[in-house]
Amino acid sequence: MRHCISFLIVLTALALGGCASNPVSGKKDFVMMSEPQEIALGRSADAEIRKQYKVYANPALQSYVNRVGQKLAEHSHRPGIHYTFTVLDSPEINAFALPGGYVYITRGILAYLNSEAEMAAVLGHEIGHVTARHGVRQQSAAQAANIGISIASIFVPQLNTQAGQDLSNLLGGALLSGYGRDHELESDRLGAQYLAHTEYDPQAMIRVVGVLKNQELFDAEIAKQEGREPRRYHGTFASHPDNDTRLQQVVGEAAHLSVAAPKENKAEFLKQTDGLVFNDSVEEGVVRSNRFMHPDLGIALTFPSEWSVKNSPTQLVALSPKVDAAMQLKIDPKPTGTAIEYARRALGKDATVEALEIEKLHAAIASAGNALLGIVYFDRKAFLIQGNAKTAESMKAQREAMKSTIRSFHILSDAEKNAIKPLAIKLTSAKQGDTYAKLAQHSPLGKNAESYLRLINAQYPQGEPAAGQTLKVIE
Ligand SMILES: [Zn+2]
Repeated sequence: MRHCISFLIVLTALALGGCASNPVSGKKDFVMMSEPQEIALGRSADAEIRKQYKVYANPALQSYVNRVGQKLAEHSHRPGIHYTFTVLDSPEINAFALPGGYVYITRGILAYLNSEAEMAAVLGHEIGHVTARHGVRQQSAAQAANIGISIASIFVPQLNTQAGQDLSNLLGGALLSGYGRDHELESDRLGAQYLAHTEYDPQAMIRVVGVLKNQELFDAEIAKQEGREPRRYHGTFASHPDNDTRLQQVVGEAAHLSVAAPKENKAEFLKQTDGLVFNDSVEEGVVRSNRFMHPDLGIALTFPSEWSVKNSPTQLVALSPKVDAAMQLKIDPKPTGTAIEYARRALGKDATVEALEIEKLHAAIASAGNALLGIVYFDRKAFLIQGNAKTAESMKAQREAMKSTIRSFHILSDAEKNAIKPLAIKLTSAKQGDTYAKLAQHSPLGKNAESYLRLINAQYPQGEPAAGQTLKVIE
């Protein structure tokens, strides 16, 4: 799991401590932090995490995750500290821990897990980072090298801007590189022990690594469609293949601790995650059958059905089937001049500009070379729908598709806003003859529905449902 290291923010607040003995090894660590300092560090970093993420608003699920987490923590090397387990309202596939016992798991990763034992494996791994004091050892190394403090003080003021965010992620990653493979394997080993102590199968750890590996394979599949490099977003897990012999070894060490009939609790886990929000939250706008709807902005935009549309909190981008053309939505919060003037300014005086009226709004379409720009004035903002093509030929082929997207600009009514619901997991029972291809036809997930359905049901890349099997679908 990628480890968010937002706690570099509070580095400056720390005084230096002395050597402390490690709760796992019992040996003296080169750690400049006492346990109270560690807990104070965790507490203030936790406040930062809660500002950056929302806590997922489902008390029943929160208490279920907390129950499983507390059980594991009780049987860990540091049962004495106070642990918290929090589900974050994020579609990211992630889990992380802060020093002092603060453990987070996203709703994004929960969607891809299929039993309580697998969730316990994720939590157990994170508890391992806490008990072995990896975060603290990391911090101490940074302090010793005298880099952490200057990084924190230089970049913290920019944290709220996107650039500052990217920078801090980058620096977080650099600081984090010391977590590395050895600490990750140590966490897997500890997590496997904690699983065995609480009567789960330690092998669940290896299954979770497989779940994350499948995410990487899936992203490679999408990256190929989109003509981009695959993301390597499980930085630490990338060095962590499920057939890795060291991983098999460290998890295997827990085998002698495990009980004869370990609990899987698949049905209970699935019941708890029935209704779980999947992918985007409504606040970021949703895409349904290539129609983008954003309740806060109050607008909708419909992209051509064969294009692939990607919505993230920071941008909305659509790509043509051959990836030779793209469209993007941008917003100018303080536009000046008329839509026509705006268009000329943006694309130059040689641009062809036509005025347009869309739902009684002032609008314009401008084109120049392989670029097309739609401008719609609404709610004192300029909505800019920008189209670009790689070649004159692909521009010619996609021009009408781009124009019809611009003309599809729509002001949402209150009834339409209220009808926007997030996608959610729904449990169903597979019928005779069900295939993922068939289920995908009725799915709102769009182009890659078949792969998504296989992934959430742990049958990626080739599996098919068996009649009577409990299935997760997305509605
Ligand atoms: Zn880890």
